[in-house]
Amino acid sequence: MDMQMKCQGHDAHWREDRTCSFCGSMHPDDFMEAMREAVDPEIPTYIDQTTKYYKRYVCKPDGALRKFYLWHIPTEEWAKEANELHPHVVRFSATKMERRVNETMRQMTEGDRP
Ligand SMILES: [Zn+2]
Repeated sequence: MDMQMKCQGHDAHWREDRTCSFCGSMHPDDFMEAMREAVDPEIPTYIDQTTKYYKRYVCKPDGALRKFYLWHIPTEEWAKEANELHPHVVRFSATKMERRVNETMRQMTEGDRP
C-alpha cells in the first residue's frame, strides 16, 4: 500500500491505514465504498457533506469519523460514479444522521438507569 503519489503538489503516499501521509484523507477507493454503503439502508454508514466544499466526513457504524478531501479524486470515471451516487447519498445520509441523533438522545435520557 506504500504507493507514492502527489497531494496538493507535495510528495505523499498511502499509509498502512490507507490514509494520505500529507493531508490524512482516506483512500478514494474506501470513500467510494463508503458512498455505496451510505445508499444502503441496511448499513448505518453515512456521509456528512460538511460546510467545506472540498471536504467530506464519513461516519461508519463503529462511530469513527473519517475524512475525505476532494483533491484525492483519482479519475473521471470515479468522479462520474460519485456524482451519480451523490444525490442518493445526501438523502440517505440525512435519514441516517437523524436516526443516529435520536438514538444518542435516547441513550442519554436512559443513561441514569443502572
Ligand atoms: Zn492528501
